[in-house]
Amino acid sequence: MMGQVGSKMRRIGPADGYTAGGLAHWCPACNSMHQFALDGKNSSGAQWTWDGNVEAPTFSPSMNIKTNPPGHPHYQPQAMSSVCHYFLKCGVIEYLGDCTHVPKGQRVPLPELPEYLRDGSVYDRSIRLREEC
Ligand SMILES: [Zn+2]
Repeated sequence: MMGQVGSKMRRIGPADGYTAGGLAHWCPACNSMHQFALDGKNSSGAQWTWDGNVEAPTFSPSMNIKTNPPGHPHYQPQAMSSVCHYFLKCGVIEYLGDCTHVPKGQRVPLPELPEYLRDGSVYDRSIRLREEC
């Protein structure tokens, strides 16, 4: 079940520390992987649909990752808060206006996986993907 899907996504799930299986892609704004949970709800209760397109995927609805949001029970005032909110449609990331990082409001082609996250790389078996920005 796990492993690379096309050149831009990896299938990851419970074996990688995620609540549900799904597809993860590289987010050039956060410099980390974000996972769309497909087989069930993720730890935040969210789940997406995928159109089955490997190289130019569309997921629905949007991804909205809030790190350390004010008002959350575990909010830490001294820590950074961030929002990564985007649609992934036809292989293009559409960052929305409420993102806290630079490409907000811009469309960015879904990048290929970084070398170290591809199948067969040195770190393929040992890397632990981050779930949040
Ligand atoms: Zn991001």
